[in-house]
Amino acid sequence: MTGPTRTKCAACKRRIPAHEPDVMLRRLDGERRRYYHTRCTAAALELVTATPEAWLMTVRHIAEEAN
Ligand SMILES: [Zn+2]
Repeated sequence: MTGPTRTKCAACKRRIPAHEPDVMLRRLDGERRRYYHTRCTAAALELVTATPEAWLMTVRHIAEEAN
């Protein structure tokens, strides 16, 4: 049994707390997903920059203070 939000960062392998915003990468040709801390976004960006057609990047904010 796993909890509902046991999300690990694909860059540093540490858990991403539910209250933190995170970056999600989703492969367009599959079901695979990767999650990153916002502080680890550089690693995600590297991957996306290498193969931009393959990934869909979503930044999930918790609070709507970005605007
Ligand atoms: Zn991380």
